[in-house]
Amino acid sequence: MSAEQTHARGYGISDTSKYTEFTVKEFKLKTPGPRDVTIAIEYCGVCGSDMHTVSGGWGPLKNDWVCPGHEIVGKVIAVGPEAADEFKIGSIAGVGAQVESCLECERCKGDNENYCPEQHDTYNDTNAAGDVLQGGYSTHIRADKRFVFNIPSAIAPQDAAPILCAGITVYSPLKRNGTGPGKLVGIVGMGGLGHFAVQFAKALGAQVVLFSHSPGKASDALRLGADKFIATGDKDFAKTAGFGAANKGREFDFILSCADSNAIPLDQFLPLLKVGGRMTTVGLPDQPFSIAGFAFAGNSAAFGGSHLGSKKEMLEMLDLAAEKNIKPIIHEVLPMSRAGDAIEGVAKNTVRYRYVLKQDLV
Ligand SMILES: [Zn+2]
Ligand SMILES: [Zn+2]
Repeated sequence: MSAEQTHARGYGISDTSKYTEFTVKEFKLKTPGPRDVTIAIEYCGVCGSDMHTVSGGWGPLKNDWVCPGHEIVGKVIAVGPEAADEFKIGSIAGVGAQVESCLECERCKGDNENYCPEQHDTYNDTNAAGDVLQGGYSTHIRADKRFVFNIPSAIAPQDAAPILCAGITVYSPLKRNGTGPGKLVGIVGMGGLGHFAVQFAKALGAQVVLFSHSPGKASDALRLGADKFIATGDKDFAKTAGFGAANKGREFDFILSCADSNAIPLDQFLPLLKVGGRMTTVGLPDQPFSIAGFAFAGNSAAFGGSHLGSKKEMLEMLDLAAEKNIKPIIHEVLPMSRAGDAIEGVAKNTVRYRYVLKQDLV
């Protein structure tokens, strides 16, 4: 394959009511530009976003067929002249959940391209030039170099894939909210996102408490570095969330919710924060959150969101993952043709903690 690669084949969905029934189609890759990098895909992680998209939970499909997947790793097969300083043919690189932004606005210039008003998602989107964008359950992807990342050789390609969405989704808010030595950080939910959040919060030097409604996940949480596990099924769980007499007065500096549920007890989590502390959700459940205004009053707490991360953060995170051996717990590596089984595992929440699909179309 060469720079003339114009099309790819992938597994996709056209009917959200039959969202595990993937069909193979050929589609056109974006028109190549001088800043573009083209990757022959080897692995693609299966993210909660893929399930929410193909099942219609986040709304109708934007095109008549969607090939999901935005945790993409493979071999570089073509490099535009303006990307040649950073990418080499044959090296291992990846693409996450964003493939385009304007690159010119204040946000893009300030390492906030993940908040650019003109950003485009990796799939279920059409870019500024009119190209229909398809994801990584496929043979190839082409993207602007700002959204392509060299994978450190210390990270195996199948381990790197989930880091590119699940990893950055938690790393960016942890970093931006000061996670580091001397900080007490709560992580809510121990799934694909949460199991990375524990590892990154710990690697950044914080003391970490993992909250989960599944007591069975305690041993995994502690093994991944959590200092304490709190089962939220107990209605008084908040009373034991801190560190007792020895740490009296210690309050949470930051809480990151990775739970894909609008039923998390926000009124119990927000009071755990120090004065002016923030709780951020990266779980984006299909249904809206509901919370009384009083829940914020006692400590001037804030509840907010976060979206992916910048390239600067992505490269920092990959270096940290390589240095501290941070990787996903992979439930199973499945051939891409079994994408439907992986999506079903995510929908039924039986996945522990990530499926990764392996290329089988070439
Ligand atoms: Zn994702
Ligand atoms: Zn921009």
